[in-house]
Amino acid sequence: MTDCTPGGTSPCTCGDALSRVYDYLDQELDAASAVAIAGHLDECPDCAEQYRLEQVVKALVHRTCCEERAPEALRVRIVARISEVRITYRRQL
Ligand SMILES: [Zn+2]
Repeated sequence: MTDCTPGGTSPCTCGDALSRVYDYLDQELDAASAVAIAGHLDECPDCAEQYRLEQVVKALVHRTCCEERAPEALRVRIVARISEVRITYRRQL
């Protein structure tokens, strides 16, 4: 664990940074706090690593929750359209 430079802007400790890293990820911090967190992540490999992991987790969760399968009718139309384009393309050769 690394403390930031004494007298630096908050958040100054790993605890501060990590407690706000989720807000930082969600871009819910005000500009000054975001800059402070970014500064800490630059200087502190431990927190930077934690931030990186949270990013990965967030991306995975997002993908799992939000990936909607295309409705069957739409999927069929897309596949049909792709075949159509392919056939047209071949005829032009
Ligand atoms: Zn730290």
